[in-house]
Amino acid sequence: MTVQEYAYAKLNLTLDVTARRDDGYHDMLMVMQTVSLTDSIQVERTEEDGIRARCNFRYVPNDERNLAVKAACVYLQAIGEEKRGISIRMEKEIPVGAGMAGGSADAAAVLRGMNRLFDRRMNRRELEMLAEQIGSDVAFCVSGGTSLARGRGEQLEDLTPMPDCQIVICKPGFSISTPELFRKLDQIGLRTHPDTPGMLEALRAGDLKEISMRMFNVFEEVDDRRMRSEAEIKHVLLDHGALGAVMTGTGSAVFGVFCDGEAAERCAEELHREYRFCRVVQPVSRLEI
Ligand code: ATP
Repeated sequence: MTVQEYAYAKLNLTLDVTARRDDGYHDMLMVMQTVSLTDSIQVERTEEDGIRARCNFRYVPNDERNLAVKAACVYLQAIGEEKRGISIRMEKEIPVGAGMAGGSADAAAVLRGMNRLFDRRMNRRELEMLAEQIGSDVAFCVSGGTSLARGRGEQLEDLTPMPDCQIVICKPGFSISTPELFRKLDQIGLRTHPDTPGMLEALRAGDLKEISMRMFNVFEEVDDRRMRSEAEIKHVLLDHGALGAVMTGTGSAVFGVFCDGEAAERCAEELHREYRFCRVVQPVSRLEI
């Protein structure tokens, strides 16, 4: 039996780092949004033992370093069926190292797929608890939508869905190393933080302009020469009428929010001349589990 799932990319409407913890991790406060850019994931039960994975991106590992494989393994352990054979096929569209949680989204899609293959033995909360063992963003990706995430990203609160709009995402050619960016952030210390309560209020009011004005990511404060491409992309987005533009996660992708679909398409066309990855997407609401 084979099941088909879609792994949805996430964007950060806000990203704040509130403390450095004794265990080396950082406490985060983030407003996360699922969008309509997906990897296609097929999960199948097989007769042979073990978990096998295949992926169209050659440089993504197919062994237990792949978060999708880890997810299948964690699920089988949780239901006491470690010996089962599982095959995972990933057709990736979400760029790697972009700050769009591609790996975490694949892992969450595998958890949902495994749950369908094994008679829906777990509810949303149970799947989110398994997700925490896999990675920080995986719990959010289990059902996605619009959420406030705290801690390492695993403490979740559902928020009012983002209003309909067009979002242009563009990724420069390089990726950014997450540990390196956290080290730099620790060195500089933070002076500016996003107005998270203001963002929650804007979401409650369904006010796209207020939402866009409050988009902010503390990692943009880090003085890294690569951030110049981010600044250039933001400039193009705002020039084409984006209501706001910001980097997602630890980068390197940047996105802008538009209410005018044609302006979004024109902007994407222009960015495409210089940057290979550029898409127009829409917000996606929470998946029912
Ligand atoms: P985040 O927003 O969570 O920081 P990201 O977009 O920066 O995510 P990913 O694209 O999820 O980063 O992947 C980063 C690393 O994870 C890469 O080094 C990649 O090899 C590894 N990885 C493991 N599993 C996957 C997967 N299924 N898809 C993509 N990358 C994966």
